[in-house]
Amino acid sequence: MLDTDFFRRWMVATAAAMDREADRLTELDAAIGDADHGSNMRRGFAAVSDVLDKEAPTAPGTVLTLAGRHLISTVGGASGPLYGTLLRRTGKALGDAQEVTREQLAEALGAGVAAVAQLGGAQAGDKTMLDALLPAVKVLGASFDRAREAALEGALETVPLRARKGRASYLGERSIGHQDPGAASSALLLGALAETAGPSGGGDA
Ligand code: ADP
Ligand code: MG
Repeated sequence: MLDTDFFRRWMVATAAAMDREADRLTELDAAIGDADHGSNMRRGFAAVSDVLDKEAPTAPGTVLTLAGRHLISTVGGASGPLYGTLLRRTGKALGDAQEVTREQLAEALGAGVAAVAQLGGAQAGDKTMLDALLPAVKVLGASFDRAREAALEGALETVPLRARKGRASYLGERSIGHQDPGAASSALLLGALAETAGPSGGGDA
């Protein structure tokens, strides 16, 4: 079972990954956007880490709703509201359960991803974060590692796509040949989840 501490550690591991990879995310955004995605993610998840320390939420769902709220308030642009919605909606779907299974998390994250699609109006193949998130939630019920792999693959598969949403879409054909920064950061979020679960799968093997 995945408890409150597991979710807190997931968010802290995500903050560390965004910090470590901020330059790469910003380089990706420099190619097809405005070169701020790394700094956006670093600032947003650092704020999430801070608030989780201060407020110590007492259920998995509240860890994620609090995180989502802080992403929205600290990250401007497209990705703040989108990531904020992802985590808030996922947290809301988990309700006030003290412990959840991986399958329950997979279902809740599915609801979060659907909310992102609704908010941003994007679908699979539009070269956005959804191209990493959608394949990952499909297999998360089976394994954390498979979800990490699927997100990474989905992010790499955005390279030949033409962007149809967000800033990169203004480039039209010129967006082809570059990885989408938001898909790359979503792969980090799923990578941090697998890392937090470790080889034992978060104790729910
Ligand atoms: P901004 O585009 O405002 O500078 P960021 O650079 O932080 O914001 O984030 C850009 C990322 O946001 C893109 O790489 C893409 O993955 C994601 N994104 C942008 N618009 C949408 C959308 N409508 N739906 C889903 N994801 C989107
Ligand atoms: Mg940007």
